[in-house]
Amino acid sequence: LQGLPGGGLNIGFEAVDRHATTALRDRTALRFVSRSLPAIDLSFVELTRQTNRFANVLRGLGVGQGDRLFVLAGRIPELYVAVLGALKNGTVVTPMFSAFGPEPIATRINLGAGQVLVTTDALYKRKVRSMREQMPTLRHVLLVAEDGGITHEPGTLDLATLMHDASDEFSTVATQPDDPALLHFTSGTTGTPKGALHVHGAVVTHFATGRYALDLHPEDRFWCTADPGWVTGTSYGIIAPLLHGVTSLIYREEFDAERWYSLLEQERISVWYTAPTAIRMLMKSGLALARRHSYPALRFVASVGEPLNPEAVWWGKEALGLPIHDNWWQTETGGIMIANTPAFDIKPGSMGRPLPGIEAFIVEHLEAEGEPPRVRIIDAPDVEGELALKAGWPSMFRGYLNNEARYRKCFDGDLYLTGDLARVDADGYFWFVGRADDVIKSAGHLIGPFEVESVLMEHPAVAEAGVIGKPDPVVGEVVKAFVSLKDGHAPDEVLRMDILAHARKRLGAAVAPKEIAFLPVLPRTRSGKIMRRLLKARELGLPEGDTSTLEGGA
Ligand code: ATP
Ligand code: MG
Repeated sequence: LQGLPGGGLNIGFEAVDRHATTALRDRTALRFVSRSLPAIDLSFVELTRQTNRFANVLRGLGVGQGDRLFVLAGRIPELYVAVLGALKNGTVVTPMFSAFGPEPIATRINLGAGQVLVTTDALYKRKVRSMREQMPTLRHVLLVAEDGGITHEPGTLDLATLMHDASDEFSTVATQPDDPALLHFTSGTTGTPKGALHVHGAVVTHFATGRYALDLHPEDRFWCTADPGWVTGTSYGIIAPLLHGVTSLIYREEFDAERWYSLLEQERISVWYTAPTAIRMLMKSGLALARRHSYPALRFVASVGEPLNPEAVWWGKEALGLPIHDNWWQTETGGIMIANTPAFDIKPGSMGRPLPGIEAFIVEHLEAEGEPPRVRIIDAPDVEGELALKAGWPSMFRGYLNNEARYRKCFDGDLYLTGDLARVDADGYFWFVGRADDVIKSAGHLIGPFEVESVLMEHPAVAEAGVIGKPDPVVGEVVKAFVSLKDGHAPDEVLRMDILAHARKRLGAAVAPKEIAFLPVLPRTRSGKIMRRLLKARELGLPEGDTSTLEGGA
């Protein structure tokens, strides 16, 4: 990292401009690939010019530092240009999933008092136009027309025309490390999504974790499969690889097992960052498919977002020739905090160890539900408690949007409380137990869903599992599992009994599920996380709560 020539720190400058005057200038920064369209390669110097144009477009509209821009689009080049150009202009960026429906879009824009929206002509007509009146802060809507055309939609501006007319020279705004850069909404796995505010100083974490956790080096060809609508898609789908001068593959379409394997091979991907949900889908489609290709360029595979079952770590070795490195972080942390890195052996099922500069602890709460919370660090290994981090790393969130009280409740002194339960072993490896909200209390035991789900996934027929506690008058809660099956298996009584027997043998009767229900797919967020709260609400006939991020829900 370099800092701005005249002082200041800006994510856009570090990710893009900095490389335009070095030997990297003509290297491909972003490579967009899709089935139906020719590939588009944007070099660092070209990306610099385009983001300059976009920053000038904003400036021309009177949009400046601290103003808020939302993006709603699939993986189109304009999205990447808009995000980076806005950062260079000091404008705060919020990405949204393009699959969101009109309600979640309007809610977020209103919550964040968004002034500018960048989206496509089609998405605007389908999802935004009818709500426009209800978004009073929104001053400018910039549209990307289909097929490089021009839009004449009333109340909007054609982005291509504005870009064409704008200068490709821009001097990046001298933001300071504590100036706001990004506003990210959490996944909504445990409740209504929260808006987490991040600053330009986060770029230090993006850089360090790109090196230590993902092992990015300039010759790499990197592919992050995360949707650009959430934090992983921004921190690692856009920023971190650019910081390292790496070529990023952006595959524009959705998951397809055969296609993904071909891309890994043909695009000579060397570092791959994906998610347990994707890995489970690949596992579901069978090893034979994986083995139709070979992956000589691939040297490092990592995963984030949910616990990575040991099964999946080993599957990586069989299918790709490499184990999968799990790492842990949250929207709030802005970047990877705990990771299995190339520097240490993987312990399958563990999230790894805190990265350099990160201090992680297991803490216990001294009193129930206090405000402010009071906790004590547990010094002994192998004891379950809440995962906490020493506050102050550069990409730490600086607030929840419009919810200062909630933010304060995340801290006890200089400890940030993550809301996740874990334990740490004597070698300093952290093991995920479950989210505090998902933990099951049964006959005096605290049961983490992950442990049960991992065991269920060992069964050859099980593709994925979600486990909840179901209220029970005698033991408090009983464990109920929802299971979806691998291709080629049909749900029936014999299979149910077989899975139950396997779980009981591995976990003991107290922890094993009492009930198993088969579902074709489990409800998940758009970021790929199993929504246990929804499994529970549906099981108990309770209201489903906020489902704005539910996949397939809009
Ligand atoms: P919400 O906060 O709205 O309920 P969310 O917590 O799922 O949603 P994110 O910030 O996208 O929103 O996800 C972070 C959470 O994902 C972590 O707190 C943790 O529960 C889970 N997670 C991420 N990586 C891992 C991992 N490697 N192992 C286990 N859990 C993980
Ligand atoms: Mg969370």
